[in-house]
Amino acid sequence: MPGFELFGDKERKEVAQVLDTGVLMRYGFDGMRNGQWKAKELEAALAKRMQVTHAHLTSSGTAALTVALASAGIGAGDEVIMPTFTFVASFESILALGAIPILVDVDDTLTLAPKAVKAAITPRTKVVMPVHMCGSMADLKALRGICDKHGLLLLEDACQAIGGTYEGKPLGSIGDLGCFSFDYVKTVTCGEGGAVVTNSIAFYENAHQYSDHGHDHRGNDRGAESHPFLGYNYRISELNAAVGCAQLPRLDEFIAIQKQYYLTIKAALEEIPEVSFRRIPEGGEGNYGFLNFFLPTKELAQQVHLALGKHGVDTCFYWFDNNWHYYRKWEHLTKGKALGKLPTDVLEGLPDYKKSDFSASDHWVGRTISCLIKLGWTEEEVDQRAIKMAEVIKSVLSI
Ligand SMILES: *Cc1c(COP(=O)(O)O)cnc(C)c1O
Repeated sequence: MPGFELFGDKERKEVAQVLDTGVLMRYGFDGMRNGQWKAKELEAALAKRMQVTHAHLTSSGTAALTVALASAGIGAGDEVIMPTFTFVASFESILALGAIPILVDVDDTLTLAPKAVKAAITPRTKVVMPVHMCGSMADLKALRGICDKHGLLLLEDACQAIGGTYEGKPLGSIGDLGCFSFDYVKTVTCGEGGAVVTNSIAFYENAHQYSDHGHDHRGNDRGAESHPFLGYNYRISELNAAVGCAQLPRLDEFIAIQKQYYLTIKAALEEIPEVSFRRIPEGGEGNYGFLNFFLPTKELAQQVHLALGKHGVDTCFYWFDNNWHYYRKWEHLTKGKALGKLPTDVLEGLPDYKKSDFSASDHWVGRTISCLIKLGWTEEEVDQRAIKMAEVIKSVLSI
């Protein structure tokens, strides 16, 4: 997955252009910049690639989620539905605004289960935030239907699935808002960075202003701009954006490599009847960043994961026991451990997650192993890895 594996001359050239002007900031300094506007250039390229009218870059994917929610007017006490299997950024961004993360089960797509989403809706619900985990998407048709029926916003976290599609449209472009991360380990990287995409001019106007202290970005005297509302600093730097300018045009090249390696490994595992694969919703095509498969039981998945590690097959993850990605290890959230006092709305609104029953999620995530597909592998390495993985799994299953 990580785009840094294929860094080269293009990345160096883009960064050098920024260093040559010395303007590392995305706004202002028009006279000094010698025509270099890397953030603006990357925003235009991203909007085009994602088939949306607007894209706004941020300092991280977490910032993008926060900005997206803020741009839609989400604030204290609003409920945002998010999955039990995701990255911690989901609830961090929600809590940053004083809103309430409502954890909801995932199904065999490893993303939000539409039925569970329906059951979690209350009069305070404002947003449904599916996370397209590990390269593939949520059932967006079902979720769009639920959102339309209940007057909710659909915010896609496409940080781990950039380049995937659903019904022919790029992931991230289907919801009212979509978010990407360009952190160091993502398919397209800026070192650090993120983006909000949308077809709503109103959300876009809010997003760029909120990300820059509320600056309205009118005219060409930054010091004289007015501030229609409170904002924050979630800006990306020109240096980071420059790396993205080199990386984004390579997205299709990266996905083609991932697809080839993914299919090689999948073909080897398909020979094993006990192994099944994560469901990809009809009409969807992932970005092949991970191959996700199920073992018949949690115990077998744990044994297979251990055995793969012992036999040198790295980059296979068992999320059920992972610190970052699954609700079981989110004690800081469930116990409300913050440095300072949490907002009253959050303290009062946060469900008692110690009592929650997420056994439907455990059923799938407990049996899941995810194999990261690396861009830096050679074809020979992939062939050997596929054979090795099948051997190790068969030996654990004693077949
Ligand atoms: C990486 C990631 C983010 C945001 O990450 P940053 O490191 O803040 O850029 C958000 N959601 C998911 C699912 C991610 O994988």
